[in-house]
Amino acid sequence: MFTQISESTNQAAHFLKLGKAIAIPTETVYGLAANIYDEDAIRSIFTLKQRPLNNPLIVHIHSFSQLNEIAQNIPEAAFKLAEKFWPGPLTLVLDKTQGIPDVISAGKPTVGIRMPNHSLTLELLQSISFPLAAPSANPFMRISPTNPERVFEYFEGKIPFVLDGGECANGIESTIVGFNNNTPILYRLGAISVEEIEDIVGEVEVMNNENSTPNAPGMMKKHYSPRTKLILTDNVSDEIELHKGEKMGLLCFNESNLEDSVFSMKLLSKDQNLEEAAHNLYEFLQELDSQDLEIIIAEKLPNLGLGNSINDRLQRAASE
Ligand code: AMP
Ligand code: MG
Repeated sequence: MFTQISESTNQAAHFLKLGKAIAIPTETVYGLAANIYDEDAIRSIFTLKQRPLNNPLIVHIHSFSQLNEIAQNIPEAAFKLAEKFWPGPLTLVLDKTQGIPDVISAGKPTVGIRMPNHSLTLELLQSISFPLAAPSANPFMRISPTNPERVFEYFEGKIPFVLDGGECANGIESTIVGFNNNTPILYRLGAISVEEIEDIVGEVEVMNNENSTPNAPGMMKKHYSPRTKLILTDNVSDEIELHKGEKMGLLCFNESNLEDSVFSMKLLSKDQNLEEAAHNLYEFLQELDSQDLEIIIAEKLPNLGLGNSINDRLQRAASE
């Protein structure tokens, strides 16, 4: 199959209407998208990603008017969050309506929904009559792509079309919030910090690794991983000392003079900007992963704001 990369939303719509899965840009990471009402197309997403079927997809909508088509019994707090953060990197897990195929929600009565903040994808969604289900456009367990070239590397010859929306602005996945009796629960740390969520709805419970279940797979212990072994540490220089003689890569947040002790070094943000660090995270991991290193040493970020979300991803990448 020939894989076309283009900025044409008309072309994208054409393939979607034919029942194909295509790649779309969002502000978080690229997604692999299909018509939510076309079960064969949705199943093809699972096959392409080699994603287990117990792993639900996120439904992408372009307006609040589409929300009632997908979800019901929507808690007040969900509206507050949506009003504040949509379009944007917030996924709400809500009770689904009857018409939503079970394959999207992994058989659960709830469905993840968000309005992405990317002009091209919003334009695409407005031009078609159905919402799109889209998980990240990476094979299961691999690093999420934040530019069209990485998507192409993963899926060349397997999908007909990549909608080219340039680099993803945020660079890590959406924050996922669900509800238990109308009380918000944070299922996955992401591009919106816990602090920002709490500013709107007050203190929220954060699900941690231990109580995560296999059917909330964004929360799986090992995820978002390079193939190279990765170690996450507070003390980079000690860790480098321990691995002396090995071909090392360093992913760091603080500037240091350790460049000479490693084969390759990537500084997430020159001025310690957490947004910039999130934006660079996956592409830098990809680059390090392609250098035939024996080990990647990653420096822990400060545990606040987006630092929390980035540490979460690095922890999962480091998990055996
Ligand atoms: P991805 O877009 O690849 O990050 O995958 C979508 C993620 O959304 C899944 O990994 C789940 O963690 C989450 N998700 C989607 N729908 C639900 C749901 N109904 N209940 C819990 N988590 C969900
Ligand atoms: Mg994913």
